[in-house]
Amino acid sequence: MEKKFIRVTLVIMTENIVIPNNLLPSDGRFGSGPSKIRHEQLLQLSQSTVMGTSHRQAPVKTIVQEIQTQLAQFFNIPDGYEVVLGNGGASAFWDMACAGLILQHAAFGVYGSFTKKFAQCAQNTPFLQEPAIFECTPGDYSIPQYVSGVDTYCWAHNETSTGVAAPIQRVPSSEEDNALIVIDATSAAGALPVDISQTDAYYFSPQKAFGSDGGLWIAILSPRAINRVESIAQSVKNGDAQGRWIPSFLSLQSAIDNSRKHQTLNTPAIATLELLHNQINWLMSKGGLQWSSQYCHDNAEHIYQWAQNSEYASPFVQNVEARSHAVVTVEVDDSINAQDIVTALRENGIIDTFGYRGLNRNQLRIGVFPSVTHEDVQSLTQCIDYVVEHLQK
Ligand SMILES: *Cc1c(COP(=O)(O)O)cnc(C)c1O
Repeated sequence: MEKKFIRVTLVIMTENIVIPNNLLPSDGRFGSGPSKIRHEQLLQLSQSTVMGTSHRQAPVKTIVQEIQTQLAQFFNIPDGYEVVLGNGGASAFWDMACAGLILQHAAFGVYGSFTKKFAQCAQNTPFLQEPAIFECTPGDYSIPQYVSGVDTYCWAHNETSTGVAAPIQRVPSSEEDNALIVIDATSAAGALPVDISQTDAYYFSPQKAFGSDGGLWIAILSPRAINRVESIAQSVKNGDAQGRWIPSFLSLQSAIDNSRKHQTLNTPAIATLELLHNQINWLMSKGGLQWSSQYCHDNAEHIYQWAQNSEYASPFVQNVEARSHAVVTVEVDDSINAQDIVTALRENGIIDTFGYRGLNRNQLRIGVFPSVTHEDVQSLTQCIDYVVEHLQK
């Protein structure tokens, strides 16, 4: 009974916290995805001349083509790599990879909710072998190691649920087996530096660092990955794929064919394409991936430093080298309920700072993507301090 009473008073107290205007950020969106879309992007969208027009005609196809060309430049992709896209987001790409990219046996690094979900997709695919899983407790990363016979190695550049960034380097000896390196870059692409030559598929959705809306996936595929897709598709066509089924919506081959014509299999969200196009232009004008990764690095470091100096907060990720500079997780002392901070912030227009629901920790999680300004990140930590100070009174 007594406990309940305390909780109720706390809720009432959080409702009363009003953060002074001079502390508030200019934009309160700190989500880890969907994340902040800049005002200028939305303004341009409202003046769009292609919304409500056919995606099979030149105006939209030109936007798709420019997105492909600019991403190739942005990521400095090696010769022969292609920028492929389709509908359904990164989650759809997982199923597509199971249907038509993994030959038989995949290995997964599992260190949070997103890496786990992809591994489960493979576990549930009846025509694939049981995958090899390399797992560690949340808060660090676990890269799959060489396993003889594994044809596809999968892990995430940035595990969004825990705020852990992992190195992207080919698994030693895997090339001799012609194995693929398949990287979930959903919350890393555009925020963390990468050498694409170390990957065969670097795939992401655009609603995180690329400040667009959801519903789309983009994959940078190596010639080796494209060959793999072709040979699996061919074996299915020839009827010698041993029970493998590739639903047409999940066909990577058809996504590759359509992308070469700057189209998607079915109707894309044109607003997502326009917002993405605008964001890539903006990032390129600022100095490309080198600029954005430095900007995100500085954003993140501000929060890590603040947490380290704080009496009630600390970085969740202990291994300094594994700390993400795209999504920052902050552990809150048990004497304070992180949810109360999140609630009070939201009441003041500072939103989506909650920890990942599946992780169930007393923590805050902050997206520090390139659209989020240094000034706003500084305001955010001041606002958190203000809220905590007033929660305790
Ligand atoms: C957000 C996210 C996904 C899921 O993206 P959807 O577009 O919702 O499918 C997958 N992986 C990572 C690492 C993510 O951050």
